[in-house]
Amino acid sequence: MPDIRPMAGSGALVLNASYEPLCVVSVRRAAILVLSAKAVCVCDGEGMLHSARNALPVPSVVRLTRFVRVPYRTHVGLSRRAIFARDGWRCAYCRGPAETIDHVFPRSRGGRHAWENVVAACARCNHTKGDRTPAELGWRLHTVPAAPKGAAWRVLGHRTPDPRWTDWLDLREPEAA
Ligand SMILES: [Zn+2]
Repeated sequence: MPDIRPMAGSGALVLNASYEPLCVVSVRRAAILVLSAKAVCVCDGEGMLHSARNALPVPSVVRLTRFVRVPYRTHVGLSRRAIFARDGWRCAYCRGPAETIDHVFPRSRGGRHAWENVVAACARCNHTKGDRTPAELGWRLHTVPAAPKGAAWRVLGHRTPDPRWTDWLDLREPEAA
């Protein structure tokens, strides 16, 4: 087992042999995949990892050498981070930087905590909106909230993507409604 001590908080994106994003693992785990020839590094991160015998660039994106079949997960977890990622870190009402999560149809009036009823919002819009619906305020949503689809969401449910990963994750701003 190589003695690998990567920088804290870093992770590596794992792609299937087909280039489909699979998951995010620790840099250490990714390095072991590369050293054991189970994966090849397709994008280096910053710095080098040293072990007794090897030195290799910190892997940022690795691709498995063999295709693995993954059970298809239909449900994407409704996390705060995933909501921000889906909405491009922008307020659904004014397009300013998002800081909070808003329930479009307010929870206090029976609105559901579901992908179709949550949006990223700035603190000001969220506060101003209070217990009202966008229609009652004459506000318009810039996007129709919906559950995200696609392989990238397996990754995005957990963390903010490393900018180096964008070539492999199909990340676009949600289209305007
Ligand atoms: Zn706003």
